[in-house]
Amino acid sequence: AKAAGRNGFRVFRPEYTAQALQRLELEQDLRKALHQGELEVHYQPQFSLDDRRVTGVEALLRWRHPKHGLVLPARFIPLAEESGLIVPIGSWVLQQACRQAASWRTRVAVNVSAIQFCRADFADVVASTLAETGLSPQQLELELTESTVMRDAEESLRQLERLQALGVRIAIDDFGTGHSSLGLLRSLPIDAVKIDRSFVAGLPTSASNLALVRAILTLAEAFGLEVVAEGVETAVQQDTLSQMGCHLAQGYALAMPVSAEEMGRILERGDSN
Ligand code: C2E
Ligand code: CA
Ligand code: CA
Ligand code: CA
Repeated sequence: AKAAGRNGFRVFRPEYTAQALQRLELEQDLRKALHQGELEVHYQPQFSLDDRRVTGVEALLRWRHPKHGLVLPARFIPLAEESGLIVPIGSWVLQQACRQAASWRTRVAVNVSAIQFCRADFADVVASTLAETGLSPQQLELELTESTVMRDAEESLRQLERLQALGVRIAIDDFGTGHSSLGLLRSLPIDAVKIDRSFVAGLPTSASNLALVRAILTLAEAFGLEVVAEGVETAVQQDTLSQMGCHLAQGYALAMPVSAEEMGRILERGDSN
């Protein structure tokens, strides 16, 4: 169905209003979600492909909505970003993740929205969270997308330098899907890249995906960056990556994202078995 008429006017359809209302309602609910304790941080382990040990965890936000059940970030992060709610929510996720990681004595990766990263006080928020939770800075990795970092390259560089001065690690998420990847690797103080799952998906049959992954690994090695492959869904993908010299991976083939409680149990066991 066409959303817009020939002159750009929207054709009136009752379902549009229904959709808009649902969105508005969800946004109002989101305003209360944080205070009502409906948000949860789940964790997905990252593994060393060399010895199958857990090397760290990624914090992934979930919303336990009283009416809609467990809501995934794709449905509410855009709303949180448009409304600015992502700022207090993001600070809360950071706090939760750092506290958990300190008690687990493990490394934690936290996703950072462009809206958070652009704020002048972001590095201060990170610094005070580390101080409050007692997590050592090297145990915290902040995941930023290429588009976040490319918005304003000069301002980003300053922000990244502040974060680097704190001693936290920086990873570029969904690497390869954005723009200016190569220049980015050279000019910004980053520690790791995460190979986007769209590249991992075609392994080992897609020649172009093989070439892309090989190129990313070569570049990362040249720049001294750690590489994490994400979205590893099969044993074959895992073996292919390992043979190509990729040492770290995350994905359903290794472990699903789980609640903090379940993650604690996995960490006690120490491996993926
Ligand atoms: P992302 O950072 O790229 O996170 C990876 C996503 O892939 C997660 O989805 C994870 O559950 C999913 N995943 C993990 N392994 C596999 C796999 O083998 N196959 C497939 N198909 N998917 C896999 P999730 O948790 O729904 O999160 C979606 C996105 O929402 C994240 O993508 C991230 O961009 C954003 N997000 C999640 N938590 C936060 C947060 O606390 N703050 C912000 N700003 N964004 C967040
Ligand atoms: Ca991520
Ligand atoms: Ca990603
Ligand atoms: Ca993503």
